[in-house]
Amino acid sequence: MADTNELNDGEERRLEGIAVSRGVCVGKALVLGVPIANPARTTVPEEGVPAELERLEQALVETRRQLVAVHARVSQAIGPGDAGIFDAHLLVLDDPTMLEHVVGLIEKEHVTADYAFDTVSQRYADALAGLEDEYLAERVSDLRDVATRVVNNLRGGHVELDLEQLTEPHVIISHDLAPSTTAMLDRSKVLGFGIDTGGKTSHAAILARSLRLPAVVGMQDASRKVENGQTILLDGYTGVVIVNPSKQTLFEYGQLEKRQQKFDDRLREIQSLAATTADGFRVSITANLEAATGAGDVISAGAEGVGLFRTEYLYLNNLALPTEDEQFAEYVRAARALQPHPVVFRTLDIGGDKFPACYRMDKGGAETNPFLGWRGIRFCLEESSVFRTQLRAILRASGVENNVRLMYPMISGAEELDQSNERLEECRRELVAEGIAFDRDLKIGTMIEVPSAVMIGDVLAKRCDFFSIGTNDLIQYALAADRMNEKVAYLYDPAHPAIIRLIKMTVDAGHRNGIHVAVCGEMASDPVMVPILLGLGVDELSVSPSLVAPVKYLVRRLKMSEARDLAVAALSSESSGEVLSRAQELAHCVAPELFDRS
Ligand code: PEP
Ligand code: MG
Repeated sequence: MADTNELNDGEERRLEGIAVSRGVCVGKALVLGVPIANPARTTVPEEGVPAELERLEQALVETRRQLVAVHARVSQAIGPGDAGIFDAHLLVLDDPTMLEHVVGLIEKEHVTADYAFDTVSQRYADALAGLEDEYLAERVSDLRDVATRVVNNLRGGHVELDLEQLTEPHVIISHDLAPSTTAMLDRSKVLGFGIDTGGKTSHAAILARSLRLPAVVGMQDASRKVENGQTILLDGYTGVVIVNPSKQTLFEYGQLEKRQQKFDDRLREIQSLAATTADGFRVSITANLEAATGAGDVISAGAEGVGLFRTEYLYLNNLALPTEDEQFAEYVRAARALQPHPVVFRTLDIGGDKFPACYRMDKGGAETNPFLGWRGIRFCLEESSVFRTQLRAILRASGVENNVRLMYPMISGAEELDQSNERLEECRRELVAEGIAFDRDLKIGTMIEVPSAVMIGDVLAKRCDFFSIGTNDLIQYALAADRMNEKVAYLYDPAHPAIIRLIKMTVDAGHRNGIHVAVCGEMASDPVMVPILLGLGVDELSVSPSLVAPVKYLVRRLKMSEARDLAVAALSSESSGEVLSRAQELAHCVAPELFDRS
């Protein structure tokens, strides 16, 4: 972090960190105190050990109750995807090895449960932090968050961040911000936050984006350099936090804010209009969704349906697998709320880094390369009863609402698609025998996210009704760059000429066979890449709900002729730098407001 001026009362100082959530805010600083002191080593007489074990048990039960409550609130407020973070917390709480160590310490050394839990969790956190892996290092804050809750519960109650006493909203400056605290931030009291720790993949950062709170992380020691009540300007676009901003700085940022507010008003005006390019080509913009509760947001964002419903969150957020009836109810709820627009339910895509708790223990044992392992359709074809339950639920939902679509993830060859369709056919036969209605013309889609699927696009296109390109995985598999690994993030490149060509091959194979081709990976949400996708002939973009309006804005100002020229140039480009600079030039020229930072 660069601190360009020495501390001097009232003088403007700039602190720098990593920008993780867009937006600018100005307000008084609320500097959160240092974490509570660690419990001192205190022993109990031998006969007091059972009571300590009992206290530990109760604190764990209470912590679990709190985490489940936080999970429910977060899930409702900002979606199950982000609430999934608290599943990781629950797993920390359930870690049998860690608990064995805690119990062992109490039994052997007759120490208090507070001290034992704190000591053991600290050891685990240090071990994790020492692994020099950015992703795992981020998980240290999950572990500490849970440990703080448990210790606080052992001390008689968890103290939630109390913002009640604030009479005006503040900018929070803190050493760290636990995910559970971040998720509960009351937006009427908090304008944004800057923290000393964390990186782009930290949960505080992910939650800030969902809550649409400007945020800067990785500021190293800002919490020691800022004092309560000082005026703070936090710029979540560039990662700059300005203490005691001068009148000139405030004026400049004020101008920027005014422009952004005006632009937001313009976005609201166009969000219900059609996504038609300036030269009259109609494009479909749908949204990605993880639970029926988010359907309202999709509609109000102006999306024309759901291009990707990630059903795995139903499984990940529950300790037991959801039943056919539970799934049926969820799918009908989503489809009904989105009528008359289509909803594409993607069958279970667990595996990789996502295993429901009940599978983690036994069948989903450690894999050397989980993203190349037992994942998506591979899992479903083997776990046939899990697959069957879901296929029946989706089919039944299609009998109630006529906008249901079904899509398979991770298809790598014709056999997998044939086998999946056979399983579906078996379920259809069962439902016929049971006299249960379903849509006999249910549209079946294939995700194109494995390079082999691109190469046999014409073979797959004959066996389904639509394609949806999952660029998140297609990029990682085509470029051999793990989408989760920060060390190879520079290789994970949507503008790589190979990716452009793979998309073109998919679109051509789909269109030659008369089927619709969508893109549902994050690339569809990137305004810089949208013109290339459209120029390549993609029919539909399924984007995150908060980006529906910006993408629509861009589409409405873009000419398809320009997009096609760009795509032609990109297809003959030799480097991603070349692709990117052309794409940026066009996107900035068509919709400069989307990139306004001056
Ligand atoms: C993708 O891979 O692009 C995709 C949309 O699926 P997920 O991100 O769920 O793997
Ligand atoms: Mg995928």
